[in-house]
Amino acid sequence: MLDVQKIRKDFPILNRTVNGKPLIYFDNAATSQTPQQVIDVIVDYYSNFNANIHRGVHSLSQEATDAYEQARIKIQNHFNAKESHEIIFTSGTTHSINLVANGFSSLLKKGDEIIVSALEHHSNIVPWQMLCERTGASLKVIPMNENGELILSDYDALLNENTKLVFVNHISNALGTINPIEYIIEKAHAVGAAVLVDGAQSCPHIKPDVQALDVDFYVCSAHKLCGPTGVGMLYGKEAWLNKLPPYQGGGEMIAEVSFEKTTYAGLPHKFEAGTPNICGGIAFGAAIDYMNNIGFENIAKYEQELLDYGSEQLQQIEGLKIYGTAKEKTSVISFNVGTIHPYDIGTILDKMGIAVRTGHHCAQPIMDFYKIPGTIRASFMFYNTKEEIDAFIVALKKAIMMLS
Ligand SMILES: *Cc1c(COP(=O)(O)O)cnc(C)c1O
Repeated sequence: MLDVQKIRKDFPILNRTVNGKPLIYFDNAATSQTPQQVIDVIVDYYSNFNANIHRGVHSLSQEATDAYEQARIKIQNHFNAKESHEIIFTSGTTHSINLVANGFSSLLKKGDEIIVSALEHHSNIVPWQMLCERTGASLKVIPMNENGELILSDYDALLNENTKLVFVNHISNALGTINPIEYIIEKAHAVGAAVLVDGAQSCPHIKPDVQALDVDFYVCSAHKLCGPTGVGMLYGKEAWLNKLPPYQGGGEMIAEVSFEKTTYAGLPHKFEAGTPNICGGIAFGAAIDYMNNIGFENIAKYEQELLDYGSEQLQQIEGLKIYGTAKEKTSVISFNVGTIHPYDIGTILDKMGIAVRTGHHCAQPIMDFYKIPGTIRASFMFYNTKEEIDAFIVALKKAIMMLS
């Protein structure tokens, strides 16, 4: 089992106060907090072996290169990728998605179809719209129901021999819905389409196995799973990564350069132009170690308790409506209270030291579906507690009284 009081000691930020009150951090779906073990790795890197990688003969450069490549192998093992060169370091989910979308520019033509889901984050909608503009392909959307679940019979009906790509998030950041990606992948493959899964919101809570899923591309950001910002990864099946052209030109990504012709480096370097976020990559590996030490089964079980407890407490508040009541969901609760604007509640909660997110959560189509401008979103990680939820409920009731 998970010892939350012990775990909380790993996170220095959880000791601070905000507006004179102990911090209660419920904005984990936007970014998670960083444990001392990961902070130590960052400090160690800049204190002891900061150097550019892959090009130096000197010791520091070799140490940095080794640590960076070991992090790649950690990530490979974590996601159970077949090859370490199927893991591409990127600056995060958004970069990973754009890398793939850009690569498909040369593989799509007019009449081709791309399917996305109604539950997507903007970073998983805009790159595909841009791809459609460049290629003449068209975008189809899997609709959702009132509970915030994708309507799979409608998905089946959208699939046909023109479908080339399907893009769906594993877990919705706005509602917490866990999508049935096994089903989505299998059906897409049956018509010969590739699937990219946005794992930004799933990787903090579950441990995906990319080979078992048979997914073509899987992407995430380190900062949502206790790592630093500005680093993430793209997993791609080797055959797909070989088919895609490089995304950016520069150092690291070439084999030979002359003014007549440049030949590209092999995987993964073909997609890693320029000096990467070396320290970030190493710290990403450390974050994965940290989470695995706690154990994803323990994390899932504990977070389910927080979700159940939080949902129960919130539902007792008069006029409060929770959006996203899928059977399969993670520890994200999106809600509104009557006609009170989410921003007003969020502002008062902040005065009481409580960090929640308010707004459309980069998922405006979902808000349009419910015909609301936004929600208040409380999202829990394994370092949150029931006592924090209790304090949040008391503060929320106060805020509602002040605003009604
Ligand atoms: C956070 C998030 C993103 C964007 O991640 P970045 O780190 O900002 O690139 C994309 N999709 C989902 C589902 C997210 O939760």
